Amino acid sequence: MIVARSTEELGLALGARASGKVAFVPTMGALHQGHLRLVETACGEAGTVIASIFVNPTQFAPGEDYDRYPRSEEADAALLAQGGCDILFAPSPEVIYPDGFLTTVSVASDLTGVLCGAGRGPGHFAGVCTVVARLFALVSPDISYFGEKDWQQLAVVRAMASDLFPSVEVRSVPTVRDLDGVALSSRNAYLSTAERQRAASIPMTLAELSRLAAVGEHDPSELQEHGRELAREGGLELEYLEIRDERTLSAQSMIDSQSRAFIAARLGGTRLIDNLSLLNPAGLDDFKHSDDNRAEMPAATRQQATTHI
Ligand code: AMP
Repeated sequence: MIVARSTEELGLALGARASGKVAFVPTMGALHQGHLRLVETACGEAGTVIASIFVNPTQFAPGEDYDRYPRSEEADAALLAQGGCDILFAPSPEVIYPDGFLTTVSVASDLTGVLCGAGRGPGHFAGVCTVVARLFALVSPDISYFGEKDWQQLAVVRAMASDLFPSVEVRSVPTVRDLDGVALSSRNAYLSTAERQRAASIPMTLAELSRLAAVGEHDPSELQEHGRELAREGGLELEYLEIRDERTLSAQSMIDSQSRAFIAARLGGTRLIDNLSLLNPAGLDDFKHSDDNRAEMPAATRQQATTHI
């Protein structure tokens, strides 16, 4: 695997690439099996795979965890090389944002103002779009891979790419989860043992909402209320739990096949996000049917759910 740190080194590495399509996997490092699934998928679908590691300062709001975000480039590089990655692009902030860099890319749509856009502020997705646009311009990939764990980011990047980089195909990869259903995330490293145990309430809540939707609870407000109650009982401090249309991220009056539950919760100082399709809950369906793992619904919730069947 070639490691490139400057735009010149990147150009040379890309010039020496094998034939076939160029696949790109942008990351912020501290890699886990979720990131590696993106690389593995890219390796199966393209001739050259390039990953980037860049903790992007412009997508962190003041007071967020930019400074303490986990950084482990040596271990990451070894994992990427083992995973079949051909080129690692690991630039410094000065390479991505040289002196005089003045551009911000933002998607003006309801996609960016809700959920994490509301919670982290309007600068968050502008920071994401700017760095992804900058990286797409440098790498010129044919295909780029993003994880469904960050569903809203995926939707916003798709919109940006369709406007500015129509030749880049954005592909999504399902969320990789731990045995207890918790989505893998670099930020899980911040959790204490007790917090990590409580984090299982996130997928449990999502799985329970999906179960209720499958047995006929189709009122989004009812489901949101049940979910918020379950999350609180599970010891989560919720930033949001909302059900929205997975394409437009708009609110819905009735659950349908596009309905997706989105959650952002704090455990101590750590903010975690997750999401699940309510009627097509791939990845958590085994978990959902396991009685051992099933979230216990409050009696009032159970009663209301039954009357809607
Ligand atoms: P990050 O390093 O957190 O910016 O993530 C880089 C890419 O990996 C993004 O496209 C994420 O959506 C994706 N990703 C992160 N965690 C997971 C996961 N558990 N499963 C699948 N993809 C993930």
